[in-house]
Amino acid sequence: MKKEPFYVQGMHCASCAAIITKKVSSLPGVANASVNFATEKAWVDYDVAKISVSDMNKEIQKLGYTLHGTDAHLGHADHAGHAAHAGVGMTKEEKKAELFQEGRKVLFVMPAALIVFLFMMWDIAAQTFSAVDAVPVSMEVWNAISMILASIVLFWIGQPFLKGVARFVRYGVANMDTLVGIGTLTAYSYSAIITLLPQVRTMLSLPEYTYFDVTIVVIGFVVFGKYLEARSKLRTGEAIEKLLHLQAKTAMVFRDGKEIEVPIGDVVKGDSIIVKPGAKIPVDGKIVEGATSIDESMITGEPIPLDKNPGDLVVGGTINKQGRIIFKAEKVGTDTVLSQIIHMVEEAQGSKAPIQDLADKISSIFVPAVLGIAIFTLGVWLTVGSSALGFSTALSYGLLSFVGILVIACPCALGLATPTAVIVGVGKGAESGILVKDAESLEKLSSITSVVFDKTGTLTKGSPSVTDVVMLHEQVSSAEVMQYAASIEHNSEHPLAKAIVAYADGTALLPVQDFSAQEGVSVRGKVHGRHVVVRKPNPTDMYSQIDDLQQSGKTVVVIEMDSVPTGLIAMSDTVKDEAKEAVAQLHKLRIKTVMLTGDNAKAAQYIASEVGIDTVIAEVMPADKAHKITELQQKGEKVAMIGDGINDAPALMQAEVGIAMATGTDVAIESAGITILAGDIRRVAQAIVLSRRTMRTVRQNLFWAFIYNTVGIPVAAGALYPVWGVLLNPMFAGLAMAGSSVSVVMNSLRLKTLRIK
Ligand code: ADP
Ligand code: MG
Repeated sequence: MKKEPFYVQGMHCASCAAIITKKVSSLPGVANASVNFATEKAWVDYDVAKISVSDMNKEIQKLGYTLHGTDAHLGHADHAGHAAHAGVGMTKEEKKAELFQEGRKVLFVMPAALIVFLFMMWDIAAQTFSAVDAVPVSMEVWNAISMILASIVLFWIGQPFLKGVARFVRYGVANMDTLVGIGTLTAYSYSAIITLLPQVRTMLSLPEYTYFDVTIVVIGFVVFGKYLEARSKLRTGEAIEKLLHLQAKTAMVFRDGKEIEVPIGDVVKGDSIIVKPGAKIPVDGKIVEGATSIDESMITGEPIPLDKNPGDLVVGGTINKQGRIIFKAEKVGTDTVLSQIIHMVEEAQGSKAPIQDLADKISSIFVPAVLGIAIFTLGVWLTVGSSALGFSTALSYGLLSFVGILVIACPCALGLATPTAVIVGVGKGAESGILVKDAESLEKLSSITSVVFDKTGTLTKGSPSVTDVVMLHEQVSSAEVMQYAASIEHNSEHPLAKAIVAYADGTALLPVQDFSAQEGVSVRGKVHGRHVVVRKPNPTDMYSQIDDLQQSGKTVVVIEMDSVPTGLIAMSDTVKDEAKEAVAQLHKLRIKTVMLTGDNAKAAQYIASEVGIDTVIAEVMPADKAHKITELQQKGEKVAMIGDGINDAPALMQAEVGIAMATGTDVAIESAGITILAGDIRRVAQAIVLSRRTMRTVRQNLFWAFIYNTVGIPVAAGALYPVWGVLLNPMFAGLAMAGSSVSVVMNSLRLKTLRIK
């Protein structure tokens, strides 16, 4: 089994996505397929031994679609090695070229449609108000002109719709094109019969009135609507575009002792890269020479330029402000932070939010259902209508209803409602240093009730320093205690260990045998033949000093030599400057805050009250952190867990949403649904605001799309006729349909202007 992404060509609406999903998943060898209309991407889970992509294409090409491997697109990828337009099969240039073609059709059809539309309005006005003169064109002339126009419009511009009808006839699959096709073809055929076969007309005593204008106007509006929709959809992908533009095209490297400029793709790991003031950092690496300040706002959202010195990391895509630096390339190509971010954003924009399921289900039965409703309505007009109004009136009203229903009931808006908002929301996040892994995380984040912070490294800076060394035994000096402790801790990566080693700086470290660590509890080993343990205090340690130190927020460890406590080391970690504000922002959003830590309860409480955290869960063993999250969930809380993503991975995964604070150059944190760059915890609240607004947009979109259809279809069917004598002209149906999808995309685009800071 292999799960692979493809670009899909030929989709027009959400029901196309449903058709492809159904068709491809039903093929032997395919386990599962999921198609996203907004990103035009499909994920297919299939058995390579049983079926190939060309086999799949053989089946769906009949229906008008093609799958393209994403690898093929890397062929004409840009330097960064990404398909140049995220998740949307074509490059932006190709899309623009296609749009231009569409635009030319629009330029032809829209004036025609507008003139016809105005004539119709004039006609209505003339019939309603006696002051308005009748249209000064005879019926015959009008019919002849409009028939010529309608023929061009239907058979040239309306080709995709006619193909939709043909596919329906041959393979029984119907999408939105089919609906519009059947509708406009019906109006056209009826009118052609009236015009060309007057005998039939007189035989059935039908009025001379034709509906060529319906064909012209509906196709005109629908094509125009699709054009606007495609244009706006292009704009939803701008975030990726921006990220791609951050990538430098070339780099200055040392080769054979010379400074030369090479294309970015030629930079290899280990290259020495020169960056002049004002230039872009081309790839990721570590400074070896020079000092400068670097603007990383485009990547991390951090507005203030950071001072950088030899040994500091630099990230590709950021801007060197004033110094000249030389750095060693450590990550190039797709390994760079920027590439990882682009990849993540692409994936997230193409992923499906759970809320979309319902819309998808509706879309998949929508088209056949609408066809059924349309036929049923025509039937009602011809039977019930006929007996009340006479056959000829009932037939023309029935046809108008039939066409109107087919045209107004487009599942387009429904299909665009969720994905367009997700695309804009995810892109917006990326611009602010909030990386969303998938749409599901974004959706879940909007409804969380509690935020759980890991203490060390999340609320605090994570680099404690030693404040006190306390002797517990007369025979051992403080220098000795520190020396033994530092020797042991030298083997540990724990932040406390680093603090102890740093404090003992200068004292000779002694050789350690049999080192072992018990995670979240202690470290131990043999030094000069003595068993040394550095551990967490336990209830049998009856030293008042421990209590006093912990009361003031310090973390205390006990040093034991041959099972005798000989000293205490107290350390304190500074709370991050922005922690208090971050917690306050969450409270403003009515979210409860919790601190989860392995540290002692008193020390933890001290820090909690300093930053305003509601609840402290302390003295938790690392392995139990996930369990504590489960306990909160059992109390009905929806939890977002914030941690560094490394020590807290299980807890991040257990939470509804795991939020990892990325430091350094690792952004693709597996266990986290959301990654926050530059370690600024205020972004947690921003991420929640972003998710809430995105979901609000989704719900607005879905609501209007549903309302539009539930109101539109009955009105088109003639539900208002018996009451007010009002029947919806199919031309308005065309207008409404075009308007509905355009308005959904526009509403999603509004998210771009959201200020989350
Ligand atoms: P946190 O949740 O604050 O990251 P941990 O779970 O990592 O805390 O550790 C809990 C406690 O275990 C520490 O406060 C300390 O008392 C003890 N401990 C863990 N590792 C070490 C170590 N390397 N040296 C000394 N004490 C340690
Ligand atoms: Mg920890």
